This record gives sequence, structure tokens and C-alpha cells, in this order.
Amino acid sequence: MRTLKLGMSGTDVMQIQALLRKMGYRITTIDGIFGTQLEDAIKRFQSSNGLTPDGIIGTQTWNTLNRYLLGYDTYTIKSGDTFYKIAQSYHTNTNLIIAANPGLNATDLQIGTQIIVPYGIDVVDTNISYTYDALKTDITGLKARYPFLEIGAAGSSVLGKDIYYLRLGKGENQVFYNASHHALEWITTPLLMKFAEQYLKSYALGQTLGGRNINELFNNTSIYIIPMVNPDGVDLVLNGLNPDNPYYSRLIEWNNNSTDFSTNWQANIHGVDLNHNYNAAWQLSKDAESAYGITGPGPTRYSGPSPESEPETQSLVNFTRNHNFRLVLAFHSQGQVIYWNFQNMAPAGAKIIGENLSRLSGYALDNATGIASYAGYKDWFIQDFNRPGYTIEVGLGTNPLPISQFNQIYSQNLPMLLYAATV
Ligand SMILES: [Zn+2]
Repeated sequence: MRTLKLGMSGTDVMQIQALLRKMGYRITTIDGIFGTQLEDAIKRFQSSNGLTPDGIIGTQTWNTLNRYLLGYDTYTIKSGDTFYKIAQSYHTNTNLIIAANPGLNATDLQIGTQIIVPYGIDVVDTNISYTYDALKTDITGLKARYPFLEIGAAGSSVLGKDIYYLRLGKGENQVFYNASHHALEWITTPLLMKFAEQYLKSYALGQTLGGRNINELFNNTSIYIIPMVNPDGVDLVLNGLNPDNPYYSRLIEWNNNSTDFSTNWQANIHGVDLNHNYNAAWQLSKDAESAYGITGPGPTRYSGPSPESEPETQSLVNFTRNHNFRLVLAFHSQGQVIYWNFQNMAPAGAKIIGENLSRLSGYALDNATGIASYAGYKDWFIQDFNRPGYTIEVGLGTNPLPISQFNQIYSQNLPMLLYAATV
């Protein structure tokens, strides 16, 4: 991690701003710019954590901040400790400590035993540019706080980033939600991550979520989530083009000689539009390219040299084949619309489920048209598995949607995310 100080800017600065605000420090704007307000907050953070208050985030300050970013501390039991006393000193909830330390007997704590103590703050931030680093930190933190969460990688991206999956629940009924096939549509990643955190927390605390009994749902259904299908693309949009990128000069060429990828780049790092790369009427997608002025790799709508040519697409295909998904939801932005069919192959009942999703979210149920109606993930799922698959276009406006839309999008989608797990 790079040293951060006054005058610098970036998505890492934004993460620290969001963290400090969550911890109660005075941070009025989360804009990714290291100003005097952040410097003051860092000095106070350093003072209260036994660090030199110089206002610079060097290695030691990073290490301390990182504990809070991950959302937990490792604590060694001392004489006279109880979970209650530890919870008090960390300003956290006893039940969160119990959930994080399965198998530990709260009435017989052994001195010297190391335990995980989750802080009393949530991990997933929904007011930042949600990069691959933010995702990695949150997945690591959630796994420590909720050890009954299963995590893993479904494969890796062109640049070798993990395509993470999460499994919520242990039931036989399997459903699958994925997000950020398209780089500009990264707001769909914190949507699924926030859902994952709320779901795990509700289960750990024995609470309901959206009026549903999460304990029962957890036992009946396994919700599989791939929150970021296209990590290379998302980071290109949010962090810009790194000079170390092996595709550096080609990417600029594919981007019409521009180094600005922040408002137009949907593809992976090969310039392939992943949601046009599945083996479902792929040739029709290819044939339609010329009508959209597509001649090769670029920001959007290039179907690739062949179906499933990309490692990200292959990862999703293999992951899907290795499970038994009753239903899939693929999250995109924007339009507040749900697409439910593919060349009239959707199975009986898919429309009724779609109507329920529509009613719960307020989003319209529709059929995709033109190039958008071929070679997408849900198209391939419907075609190959003859089961219900939906593309959900969240939010309204121009991509990338501002993160200020997050709360509205979350409340529109939460009932759907819960219902789809019961189908
Ligand atoms: Zn999309």
C-alpha cells in the first residue's frame, strides 16, 4: 500500500475517508481527496492508537487502519475476561463475538486463547468507489467475522485477479447471483456485498431481514454470489490505466486513443464485452457488431474472437456447470427493468417468477432487443439449463451511476434478493 498524505487522491483515500467517518471522525465529504480535514482526522486516529500523530499514512498507520477496514481485531484472553467485558471495551456486540468464535465456550474462557473480536461497525462501505481491493478486504473481513461463510475463487481474470465467490447458507436449494459483468456497472458489486453482510449478520444475531426468517432460509437455501465478474475492467474504470498494465498501449488504441476509461469502458482487459461472449446465439451477436460500428476490441459490445474466449466467461460457465442452480440473477445497470426470456426458451413458470420480481422491486418486466438480446450470461443459462434466469438492470440514469443512488437501489432490490432464494 502506498504512503498517503496531504494533497494526494485516489480510491484508497476514499476508503480511508469512509472508514474514519464510520468510526465517528469528522469527515464531511467522501471524495478521494486527501485534504486538511482528513489530515486532522488521521492525526487524532494516530494519537488514540499510540502512533506518532504526523497526519501521514505510512506503514504503521496503514497496518492499524487495516484492522478497522477488515472489521476485526485478534485478542488474547486475560484473567477475568468475559465476552461481555471484551464487547464493552470494543464497543461491539457479544453475539458478534460468539459468532466469530465457534466452538469457544463463553463460560470457560482459557487465559492465553486468541479470539476474533469484530468491531461494532459494518464492513461493506456503500459510499465509495468499490474497487477490487475494497472487495478483497471486505471478503476477508466477512470471512473472519462470520466463519460459517464459504468463500473461494471461481477462476481468475485476464490480469490474474481472483473471481471470488461467496456461499451464504447450507441448504440444498441453490441459487446464483452475479454482478459487474460490465465494468461501468460496478455499483452492482456493493449491492450484492451489502446484501451478503446483512444476511450473515441477521443469521448470526438470529434476526429477520426484510421480514424474512434468515435462519430458516439459511438452512434451506445456498445463495451463491459472484460479486465482481470483471475485476480488471472495474479497476480500469475506477483507478485508471496503470502504466504497468501489459495491455497499456493496446487499451489506449482500443479506447479511440483516449486514456480516460472512466465513463465508457464496459469490457474486460482484452476489450471483450463479457456479456456478449457466452455461447448462446453468439454468432448473431457477432453479426450485429457492424451495425453498431464495432470492428474489434473496444469499450463495449465486442463479442470476442469466439464464444467463451475469455477467462472470466469460462469461469462463470464452469462455476455454473459445477453447481445445480435453480435460478440465476445477473445484475447490471441501468434502466429499472428485468429481462426474463431468451428466444422463447424460458421454462414454464419463468414469467410468473419474473412478475413477482417485478412487483417486489417496482422494475418493469421486459424482453431485450437488438444486440443486447444475444450471448449474455442469462441467455446462456436459460438455453443450456432450461431454468429461470434474469438480467436485472438496477437504477436509473447514465452509467456509471453515482454511488449516491446506492440506498435507493438497495431498498428496491433487497426484497427480490430474498424472494429469489425461496423459489
Ligand atoms: Zn450491463
